[in-house]
Amino acid sequence: MSQDPSCIFCKIAAGQIPSRKVYEDDELIAFHDIAPWAPIHFLIVPKEHLASLYDTVPEKHQALLGKMLALAPELAREQGASNGFRTVVNTGADGGQEVPHLHMHVIGGPRPWAKG
Ligand code: AMP
Repeated sequence: MSQDPSCIFCKIAAGQIPSRKVYEDDELIAFHDIAPWAPIHFLIVPKEHLASLYDTVPEKHQALLGKMLALAPELAREQGASNGFRTVVNTGADGGQEVPHLHMHVIGGPRPWAKG
């Protein structure tokens, strides 16, 4: 599994930087966003270093991407999102992506939210 030693989310996945973990398995880690927009805001992150959705290959990453999306409602419910939630995958500069390691935001909880 490729990793980038200078990548902050690779460091979180490797346990080298602390995070408030929501979920972990062999392929994925989920942790609370450090600057939440809403009462519930966590990130679902593949442990493999993929810079963005642009760097995924359909045949290779289809199952991983499906797993990320399938996990979102389960973890959102566990975190208390009982009235819906938003999933966001920012991709590249025009997509507003700040951390160059693929991640899915899961955002929920009672409104108003700070953003979104
Ligand atoms: P994006 O704009 O989609 O790349 O969003 C990156 C997200 O990562 C932002 O919402 C940040 O608040 C969040 N973030 C950055 N560093 C950390 C960290 N060390 N732990 C948790 N979340 C982080």
